[in-house]
Amino acid sequence: MYGLSMPLESINLLISKSERPYDATAVANGCVSSPFRSAERPTHNGIDIAYFLKSGGSRSLAGEIRGRSIVAPKAGKIIDRGYDSMRGYYVVIDHQDTEGIVTRYFHMNEPAVVSLGSVVAQGQKIGTVGTTGNSTGYHLHFEVQPKGKDYLDPRKCLGDGSNAQRCPYIEPVVLVSYNKTGDGVKWVQWNINDKGANPQLVVDGEFGPLTLASVRKFQSQRGLDPDGFVGPLTRAALACPFNEPAVYLMKGSEGDGVKWLQWYLNRKDFGLVVDGDFGNLTRAAVVAFQSRARIEVDGIVGPITRDYLKNF
Ligand SMILES: [Zn+2]
Repeated sequence: MYGLSMPLESINLLISKSERPYDATAVANGCVSSPFRSAERPTHNGIDIAYFLKSGGSRSLAGEIRGRSIVAPKAGKIIDRGYDSMRGYYVVIDHQDTEGIVTRYFHMNEPAVVSLGSVVAQGQKIGTVGTTGNSTGYHLHFEVQPKGKDYLDPRKCLGDGSNAQRCPYIEPVVLVSYNKTGDGVKWVQWNINDKGANPQLVVDGEFGPLTLASVRKFQSQRGLDPDGFVGPLTRAALACPFNEPAVYLMKGSEGDGVKWLQWYLNRKDFGLVVDGDFGNLTRAAVVAFQSRARIEVDGIVGPITRDYLKNF
């Protein structure tokens, strides 16, 4: 259902690649200066993008994003553009996909460079980053909403290498367990099937004995406590499309083990491109995570860092 996912590898792709101040193919912790519906801003229906990550891990100055080109993450039609005191200069794209996804861009520096009713291609410039309207600094406010439905967390619509783009259900935030019903259970059943459950479960949203047996089996295969309760650890294991590596990873490492690492770092909001390449940005994210977790900060990922990534 997340129709933006295909071409987008990271939020940074909303900003024209040639105009990024650094060769940052990733956005890291901090690039999103205000997340979707945080406790502090429960009605913030989008994300604010205000920083870039420099290689080495430090943030660029927020002002450096000023005037950068905003590009369409996916083709679509301009269904609204204009100015008001809240949104500043804004533009709205209807991606005309089966999910009815509409994306909105606020606080632009000047009027949208695309006209009402025009069709834009993926990657086409639609405006520049500004601070017009109700804004306290240069940033892009970005929203994603399927028509007639509730807003989505834009970060979950941007490709992170996970199967979130294929799964038609939204990952639950609460514990899912025996006898529960609803879409959270459907998410579990869909993902259990996607991991090769045998027999495949009927995705009916009812957590019955078969679902319980499948969850327990999956948990023991992954070295998790086979208690049948689907909490954060089991959810992550279900959502992650990559297998945990058994070897040490460090700068220069490559492959699916690195993708596993990048995927788990993104789960902590590091916004890396999941490309299986352990470069400077991945190392910077590992260093930042190790320091946050108060474990040895060496940029090398062994069993301890892996455990903290899963559990912290
Ligand atoms: Zn905002």
